[in-house]
Amino acid sequence: MTVTTVISAAKEFGVPERYAIMRRLTFLQPQIKHLEREIWAAQRRIERSNDPLVKALTESFIKDQEKELRPLKREATALLNHVNGKETVQAPGGITPEMIDQARQYPITSIIDFPKGRHRCCPFHEDSNPSMALYDNHVHCFVCNRSWDSISATMELDGVGFREAVLALQ
Ligand SMILES: [Zn+2]
Repeated sequence: MTVTTVISAAKEFGVPERYAIMRRLTFLQPQIKHLEREIWAAQRRIERSNDPLVKALTESFIKDQEKELRPLKREATALLNHVNGKETVQAPGGITPEMIDQARQYPITSIIDFPKGRHRCCPFHEDSNPSMALYDNHVHCFVCNRSWDSISATMELDGVGFREAVLALQ
């Protein structure tokens, strides 16, 4: 499904565009959350296990789950960006610089936990050696060669837009 499919269906059935998008999102989001939870649990199993067979099987399980997750997240992000684009036009200033600061200060370890100190496996790719490091209130992955703050980590993990992430972190 694409944004265009949802919008043209809304038009065809005389349903407000925003309503159709929100309905589709309430269908997608629990599936995304479920797959993300499965992947996180599997990553923990890999971290804990010393059995190469268990590790290999769990890695292939993660790969399958990620394959399922990717298109769902892509669609949810596209739908949210569409809604956000519309909302920015209708209600400028919905989020303030203070709200953005507040969201940036939200503890990133409540979003990506670091149970073993300052390093962990990166949740954004298949990672069997901890590639992600915690600095102040942001994280950096040396494999992805990218950094995330609380806002960008929420956007990527939850498949939401900037505005949604800022609101979620208040
Ligand atoms: Zn990474």
